[in-house]
Formats: sequence, C-alpha cells, structure tokens
Amino acid sequence: TISNMKAVIANGPKDYKLIYDKPMPKIQDGQVLVKVVASGICSSDLKMYEGNEFYWGVDGRARRGIIPGHEFVGSVVDIDPSIARDQSISVGDIVVAEQFIPCRDQCWFCKNGMDYKCDKLIIYGEDVDGSMAEYMIYQKGSLVHKVPEDLSPTYAVLAEPVAFSVRAMDRAHLKTTDLIVISGCGTIGLGLVAAIETFYPDISMIVLDYFQFKLDLAKTISKKCTTFNLSDKTVSSIADIVRKMSGEQNGADVFFECAGTSESIKAGFEFLRKCGTFIHIGICKETYIDASWNIISAGKELTIIGCNLGRNAWPRAFEILKKCDLSSMITHRLPLEEYSNALDLISSRIKVVLDPTLPASKLLNESQSLLPIVNNNEKHLKIKDSVAFVTGSSRGIGRAIAIALAREGAKVIIHGTTHDSPSYLNEGTTMTTLAKHISTITNNTEITPVWGDLSTKEGVQSVLNHIKYPIDILICCAGGNIGSSGVNTASGGKPSHDTCLTISDSDTKSILNRNFWTTHLVCQSIVPQMIQNHRGHVIIIGSTSALLGREKGALYTVSKAAVHQYMRCLATQVQSSGREKGALYTVSKAAVHQYMRCLATQVQSSGIRVNCIAPGPTLTERYKRNIGTDQGVTGRPEHVANAVIQLLNMDFVHGQTIRVDGGEQTFTS
Ligand SMILES: [Zn+2]
Ligand SMILES: [Zn+2]
Repeated sequence: TISNMKAVIANGPKDYKLIYDKPMPKIQDGQVLVKVVASGICSSDLKMYEGNEFYWGVDGRARRGIIPGHEFVGSVVDIDPSIARDQSISVGDIVVAEQFIPCRDQCWFCKNGMDYKCDKLIIYGEDVDGSMAEYMIYQKGSLVHKVPEDLSPTYAVLAEPVAFSVRAMDRAHLKTTDLIVISGCGTIGLGLVAAIETFYPDISMIVLDYFQFKLDLAKTISKKCTTFNLSDKTVSSIADIVRKMSGEQNGADVFFECAGTSESIKAGFEFLRKCGTFIHIGICKETYIDASWNIISAGKELTIIGCNLGRNAWPRAFEILKKCDLSSMITHRLPLEEYSNALDLISSRIKVVLDPTLPASKLLNESQSLLPIVNNNEKHLKIKDSVAFVTGSSRGIGRAIAIALAREGAKVIIHGTTHDSPSYLNEGTTMTTLAKHISTITNNTEITPVWGDLSTKEGVQSVLNHIKYPIDILICCAGGNIGSSGVNTASGGKPSHDTCLTISDSDTKSILNRNFWTTHLVCQSIVPQMIQNHRGHVIIIGSTSALLGREKGALYTVSKAAVHQYMRCLATQVQSSGREKGALYTVSKAAVHQYMRCLATQVQSSGIRVNCIAPGPTLTERYKRNIGTDQGVTGRPEHVANAVIQLLNMDFVHGQTIRVDGGEQTFTS
C-alpha cells in the first residue's frame, strides 16, 4: 500500500508548493477516504493564493500548511462502516461533499436552521485539508452526496458552484414575470443561467461579461437570454436598454452580482428598478467599496441580500447538470503539477480542473497528446478558427501569409506599423481597406486590422490591447533591411552605406530594432499566454542571408542570425517547463558570428583575415562564481588562448567559426 502522496501545500500568500511525501491520510471515526478524481479551481482559490486578507488577515480563514481545494469529486477508498451503512455508500462509489462542515446541534445558528453560518464552521481547503492532493478525507459530519451514475466524475465537479447558483436563485424569490440581470459569467453566473433556465423557463435574463466566449456559452445554455459585452458597451448605455426592455417599471427586478468588482456593484444599483432586489454573491478584492449608498434607502428602497455557498441545493444542482449540458464550462483539465498554471488560468477561463490521476506533462509537445483541455475543439491546433497574428503583414511576404491563413479559415489579425503602411510601396492604401480586401478575396469575415510600432514595449502593448482573443498562431514577419529613414526612400529603405564598416549607427540600430528587438518584444508578450493555454505555434520569418557572409546588407543578415538563434532558444524554453538560461547572451553571440562572416566577406580581397572562436563552457573565475561549482567542466581559458595562437598561425583560414569545446558540439552551424 502507498504511504505517501502528492499534495499542494499552502504555506501563505503566494507561497504554495507541490510535495511528494505528504503522508497518506487514514480514516478515523466518521470519516471517508477518497481518491480525488477532480479538484475544481475557482476565483476564490486565486484570491486565497494572492493573499486576500479574508483568508490570511488577522481573523483570516486559512490555516498555514493546509492543502487547498474546496470543490471536489472522489472515489471511495475506505469508509467508516457506520457511515457506509447510514448513507449507503460503498468502496468505489463516486461521492462529493459540501465544502463546509457544520457542528449541526451545538451553536445557535445550527439550532436555528442556518448551519451554513455555523459558529464552528469547518471549511475544506481552509480549516481542514482540501482536494489538491491525490487523496483526501471527508471529515466526520460532512454533507456527502453520491454522484448520480449517469454523470461523469469530472463533470460532477460543477455540482459545487452550480449548487451555489441554485441557492442564489432561491434567495431572490423569483417571479415568472421578473426581468433579471446577471453580472459576471464565471461558473456561478453561468450556473445561474442554467438554474433559471431549468426552474423558471419564462424569466427574461440579461447577462453581462467582458469575455465574448463566456457570453456565447450563456447563449448556448439559454437561447433566449440577452447578452452584452462590457468591452463594447458602457454600463449606462446598457442600463438604458434594460430600462426600455422593462417598460413602465423602468429597471430590472433582480440583479445578481457574480463578478465581485466595484464596477459591477455600482452597475447593479443603476440597473435595478425602485424596490428591486440586489443579490450579492461575488467576493471583491477590495475590503471596502465606494458606492452611492443612499440609493438603497431614499433612492430606490432596494432589498440587499448576501449569498455564500450552496446549502440545500445539491440535488437540484445534479438535476441541472443532467438537463443542461454545461460540460464546455470546464475549459481545462490539468495534472496536479500544474496547479500554479491552473490558478493563472482561472481569471480568463471558466472552470479549470486539477485531476491528480493525470500524469505530469511537459508543456506543449507531450501535453497536446496526453491531456489537457477537455473542450474537444481545442485539442489540436487547427488553422481553421484559430486566431493568427501576422506582424508586418501590410505588404509583401507578411501580406501573402495573412491571405493564405485567411483562406484556411483562421481569424487573422493583420498588422502594419501605421494605418497607411500598405500604401508605402503602392501595394494598397490603408490597413482597414486591406482587411476588407483580404476579406473579400478569401471570403473570410474575420480579418482584423491593427497598426502600431512594435519596437517598443508600450507600442506592442497598445497593439495587443486591440486584440480581444488569445492568439494561437504568431507569425513574426515584421522586419526587413530598412534603415532609420524608413521604407519610404528611393531604395525602399535600404541603408546607403550598407556594410559592416560603413553603415551608420542610426541605420544599425534601426535594423536590429526592426528585425530582432521587435521579434523579441512580440514573443515576450504573447508566448507566455500560449504556454498557459497549452496551445500555440510561433513562426519567425528569418532569412537565408543570415547563414552566409555578405558584404552588402551585412547588418540585416546579422539581425536575422540573431532572430534564428532567438527562435532556437524560444523553442528550447517552451519544450519543457524549465527555463533556458542565457538565451539572450547566445542570441547576441549568434549575431556576432554572423557579423564575423559578413566582415570576412567584405575584407576578403584585402589580405585581412577574420575568424571567430566559439568556446564551450570554460572554467573561469566568473564561471565558478556564477555556477557555484565546476560541474565537470574541462574547458580552460588556456585552451581558448592556444586556439587563438594556432588560428593566427594558420594560413588560408578565413570567415570560419571554430568551436573550442572538446567536441561537445560536432555539428555544423
Ligand atoms: Zn469555489
Ligand atoms: Zn453550528
């Protein structure tokens, strides 16, 4: 039998770690031991991780050293026989437990039917170990439910949030004629849409969020709900529409606040009619919220109702899960090893589930085949419906790539440095017209133009602010042998004194910026998101000119050599979860090697020789200080010095890079 297990331990704010030697729990009186098959993550997990004082403040709920996780499904491994008998549960059954354990009969609240606010309330993942582990104990007194056999164990993890939504619905005492607004389409908000669709099919719902895919999902759960994207419309313009829809009563009957932001709370006060009902479910980051408080009394005489957890609602939650297909709410299923990635994902996705039975995976390559995303259309990267961002696609190669991607059915974001970039070489007029043109010739309506300078961080950010979807395909094409006067010159931007020894400083900087720096900034802004999403392909447009020495256009080929090496480093980094150190150093060295080849070409007939020596790891004092040990390095500074001497003595060797590394690398460059 196993004696240790994997578990995530919360030692404090932002201080979580995965350990492999947590002793396996054993059952005691009144307990059930389960193998965790799904552990849901919600935004309250993220708030706890980030250090919200509700959890870690003076009277905070969380205990240091606890295993987090309060939404879970487990398969029974061992059970106290009396519990097995009383609740007819046997080994192998799939069971859930409500996230809190009340004292049941000792405190005033339990005695008065409010056990969910029990004075001695114990909460999983805060007071007692939760579900981010291979096994967990359902404590004595837990409210355990068997998962109906026709629900898959992973899907059943939605019972916890959906039960919460059902209770919020109960608290509102809805009438079939009500007009309601749901603000925030996380799990609770979408669960509310499903609950109301199931139990009050005649009620009109208005649903708000910033993410279109969440609103689209609300639409699939309830076809008749009206959705508004808050990034397209202001709150007051939506409020106008809500008032018009409501007619004489001039506002919504009930507002469900599921976003937990001050904007959402203020919006609720604006949307509600006089004597309306405000149900507050969200947990705000801030402890204090500024809102116009008198609206509750003199203003509108509102009824304000708080709601937390899903007491007395689980059987109906299972009913909803059977009736509505909410499976696409589970956007990711990840192994325990990826708990921190899972926490990152929760703010932009819906339900992220940790499944401790999944094997740990390397990012990208392996994960695509083994895991992780439950949503079927996201399993493989297909060009069709993927979001492709092509930098430098106002003209030339980039434009041809954009057109080809559009033909394949991708959502293509085309980019130029300025709005009129397409006009510079008479290939078109503006980015907007180009988008329309591509749209027409490819019969693809999803072409979005963006423009801006990508050679500064702020520039990249302002371009990315116009892109609403996560990018799946990144084509780095912006670049070219274009000097500091830009592309609008007689030579199409080619610098006038274009060799290693004659090019101006400003042209050198411009070329390195356009080709290398831009590639670097764009990758830095987009690839981390791809890693999180387990989805993405980056293609960097390099140049064969970077592989051979050249006299003219030398600095351009140097910048392209840098880009090729940058691609290799990036490829190494995303291949595994580890970080490849020293990437930019190697990029600068790749540029230097190419610089040497160009210089060698330029001086070929002059009798001057130019070569490059590329040492492998060499044991210098600085190396020892950096690495802390010699790590078996056999290269010595003297080896390099000797190679320099030998090279100086060698006739007829020119434009070469010679490795001095004891044979560590034996392939050609
Ligand atoms: Zn939760
Ligand atoms: Zn109690």
